[in-house]
Amino acid sequence: MADFPKIDLILSPTPLHRLPRLSDQLGLDLWIKRDDLTGFAFGGNKGRKLEYLIGEAVAQRAEVVVTCGSAQSNFVRQLAAACSIAGIRFAAAVMPLPYEFEEASGGLAAEGGNLLLDQILGADIRLLPNDTWESLYDSAAKLADEYRKSGKNVYEIPIGGSTPQGAYAFYQAGKELQSQADPFDMIVVASSSGSTQTGLTAAYKGTATVVQGIACDPEPDMPDEFVALAAKLDELTDLNLNLKRDDFVFNLDYVGPGYGVPSEGGMAAIRTLAQTEGVFLDPIYSGKAFHGLLDLAANGKLPKRVCFWHTGGTPALFAMPTQ
Ligand SMILES: *Cc1c(COP(=O)(O)O)cnc(C)c1O
Repeated sequence: MADFPKIDLILSPTPLHRLPRLSDQLGLDLWIKRDDLTGFAFGGNKGRKLEYLIGEAVAQRAEVVVTCGSAQSNFVRQLAAACSIAGIRFAAAVMPLPYEFEEASGGLAAEGGNLLLDQILGADIRLLPNDTWESLYDSAAKLADEYRKSGKNVYEIPIGGSTPQGAYAFYQAGKELQSQADPFDMIVVASSSGSTQTGLTAAYKGTATVVQGIACDPEPDMPDEFVALAAKLDELTDLNLNLKRDDFVFNLDYVGPGYGVPSEGGMAAIRTLAQTEGVFLDPIYSGKAFHGLLDLAANGKLPKRVCFWHTGGTPALFAMPTQ
């Protein structure tokens, strides 16, 4: 098995519980895996990846960690908190809406929410005007150079933390769920930069459980990147997954107006789960994934026993346009 450096950040196993009222309404046996309750910096799926990413940064004696993302990035918030624990300075280049910059509208506020938490954490956040992903990556590279020129040992982390170690963390998360309950027919999860879906798909390879990713980016070719990530995981571990394009079940129907922009269906799904079960979702990822779950269920396209994997993101609720 892999022997990556790791530090403890999250409280695991995260809770798993049934959603009895929605199960009745939808005619399913519906459960929820609460990775919104990872117990670290307002929770969310990035805590699992960060145990390895920060472990590696510490092992490399990093003095500054640099990354980039959207202004309301959940990854940036959790990474900032992880750096606090590790005693590492943290800097990030962010843009309000890097993907949809050309027709940017309806996105989250560039204040409050995760940005407020980043400020409390003392992060060096460079809030840039909207531009392309490439220019965001360039800005992160320049920020890293700026710290290097001041003599610091800089550790750069790609957007979303989608490294093989991140996927490995979710391989283990899948094993965690397997130890908590009888097998599910399907797991429904929000999918973006890929290590969550790649790791879970790896954990369920060869089982009867389908891992159904619901896309939050309008990027039909993402599964090719998942295949590449899985191949890297194979290089670094003895898992021998050999995952192919067909191993990834990926649905692009619920992205809505674009990455980082709340969708009508996602907002309705947030209200549905809150008003039946008292559980909050987020507008950019888990709300859209839950919209997918509700819509597929309404169209008779889900099997009986389903687990929704809640990836967190709830601080973004406080940066949403008011309805
Ligand atoms: C980052 C994130 C995701 C997507 O995870 P990936 O591993 O990047 O695909 C889903 N939900 C929330 C709340 C996130 O912050």
